[in-house]
Amino acid sequence: MQDAQSLSQKTFSSPVSINHPNKDGVPQSSNGHEILDLPHNSMCQALPVLFRVLISNLQKEIEKQLAVRSTRKRRSDFQYDYEVYHSLDEIKSWMFEMNRTHPHVVDMFSIGRSYEGRPLYILQLGKRTHPYKKAVWMDCGVHAREWIGPAFCQWFVKEALNSYRTDPVMRRLMNHLNFYIMPVFNVDGYHYSWTTDRLWRKTRSRIARYQCRGVDANRNWKVKWCDEGASSHPCDETYCGPYPESEPEVKAVARFLRKQRKRVKAYISIHAYAQMLLYPYSYKYATIPNFTCVESVAHNAVNALYSAYGVRYRYGPASTTLYVSSGSSIDWAYKNGIPYTFAFELRDTGHYGFLLPESLINPTCTETTRAVKTIASGLLKKCSRGKPAAAPGHPRFSL
Ligand SMILES: [Zn+2]
Repeated sequence: MQDAQSLSQKTFSSPVSINHPNKDGVPQSSNGHEILDLPHNSMCQALPVLFRVLISNLQKEIEKQLAVRSTRKRRSDFQYDYEVYHSLDEIKSWMFEMNRTHPHVVDMFSIGRSYEGRPLYILQLGKRTHPYKKAVWMDCGVHAREWIGPAFCQWFVKEALNSYRTDPVMRRLMNHLNFYIMPVFNVDGYHYSWTTDRLWRKTRSRIARYQCRGVDANRNWKVKWCDEGASSHPCDETYCGPYPESEPEVKAVARFLRKQRKRVKAYISIHAYAQMLLYPYSYKYATIPNFTCVESVAHNAVNALYSAYGVRYRYGPASTTLYVSSGSSIDWAYKNGIPYTFAFELRDTGHYGFLLPESLINPTCTETTRAVKTIASGLLKKCSRGKPAAAPGHPRFSL
């Protein structure tokens, strides 16, 4: 564990998703406050920037969460607690358990190995009704420190398995679709964030001649690779890697999706934090060809999410809603023929940030489940391209 000073510098100097530049290139939070994207706290005194302290003692907050963990009751597998964060080993055991106890609707398999040799496990969910079914891909934990991601993937699996017999919407989804769910994409990074550095983001690969390790797994895809919004320096948080698909985790998922691209109609990637639902393009300010259909699905999804607890998500193209980034998975999936590709930025908007308390797992996952079900249901309807865009009053963007 690092000391509080270095942790807080790291938090505020990282190009986290909340830092999105406005037209003038000034990083702003979603409520319009300019926020810190500076290498040293001393610069705050030197420069006339507006900032707010969100967590006054970050180290204490991290220790508090770890303390809760060590004292809480460990439960047996079949009473798995979905309202706490789980280590990689616990998630792996849980996946085996889901596979063992639901043989008619779950299939577990590995699509490759991580840099450090860990298997990359997927859970396939769906009734074996047709030999050829449309599919939805969902990955969580691309960025190691975004622990709410893996918590959500597990929550969604639990919801699907518990409700498909009684909930007509879930039954329809399980009958007509297959879900490919990857609860932890960046397994090495996730493990590292549990054992060594809670705020680790990247993979754990080594680059020859450099001390710094890891590549940003959401900048490593072969689509406008290492252009705007990505860094070519191995020590940066948005390092794009030595070449596209250099990371075995990215390569494995890309290979799987290329093989399945005729079936996979939606790609969903779960991140945190910003409370946004984003779709392509990330790398340029331009409108996607099926914009009307995608925007309509996004509109319905954020409304479904809002209906749970009144939490508002902004939505729109990633480039204009969050920031420009090249080599991202949603752009890659879209370019490879998957018509609906989304990235969620879950709760919150910066109060706890990556350290979202376990007490917020339930509401965050409950509302997000509604949004994901809406997206999946959208695949079972026809979208006519001539449909008008969403009603005015929703977040707009310049194109
Ligand atoms: Zn992320």
